[in-house]
Amino acid sequence: MTEELFREEAGLLECSATVVAIDDAGVVLDRTVFYPLGGGQAGDSGTLTSADGAVLAIADTRKHKERPGDIAHVPAAGADLSAFAPGTVVMARIAAAKRLAHRRFHTATHLLCALVPHPVDGCSITAGYARLDFHMAEPLDKDALTAGIARLVAEAHPVGHRWISEAELDANPQLVRSMSVQPPRGLGRIRVLEIEGVDLQPCGGTHVANTAEVGDVVVTKIEKKSAMTRRVVLGFAAPPPTA
Ligand SMILES: [Zn+2]
Repeated sequence: MTEELFREEAGLLECSATVVAIDDAGVVLDRTVFYPLGGGQAGDSGTLTSADGAVLAIADTRKHKERPGDIAHVPAAGADLSAFAPGTVVMARIAAAKRLAHRRFHTATHLLCALVPHPVDGCSITAGYARLDFHMAEPLDKDALTAGIARLVAEAHPVGHRWISEAELDANPQLVRSMSVQPPRGLGRIRVLEIEGVDLQPCGGTHVANTAEVGDVVVTKIEKKSAMTRRVVLGFAAPPPTA
């Protein structure tokens, strides 16, 4: 199983690691800072650099379908993998601006959950936007939601995670906000994300450490996707830094 450093430290941008396997899915490392597509959040991109300076561009990150618990770093099209045989020690680095955008948007989707007390039946978080589908018939007000997010950002609530047992989750079914994504079972423990005084729900994604770091996130669009689905789209009020 790939050790998932991003679960404990979302701000970690690089780590040293050893190549465990290479196959059609990509490069598997013994540990990684790369988040694999899941829970609505896009996979990370970045680079793997060998000790002698060979650089492998990673276009995306996925959970490995044939190797449960392993993470596949998907090479960019046409990449040369010859310097990355199993056993190779690499420095794994993610694209920092993309991760920061994911962290800000992902935390903002939790703020939306607190503002819109309805079940969630869809979620997508990318570096350019985030969207959340709520199972509800009532209309939503774009400006009121933007103001609500701004208030929770200004209040600077601490954001943190902890692990609870599956038995604890079973005893508190209201913790599961999403209708489409159930927390992963079978590991014996579930990761719970808490925004103090605002939101608590199972989540494995990457978040900022305080709602103040969400910054200027606004509601750009509200769409009626069906009679019982309202889609809220989030964007940055100002383009994120490109560093
Ligand atoms: Zn989350």
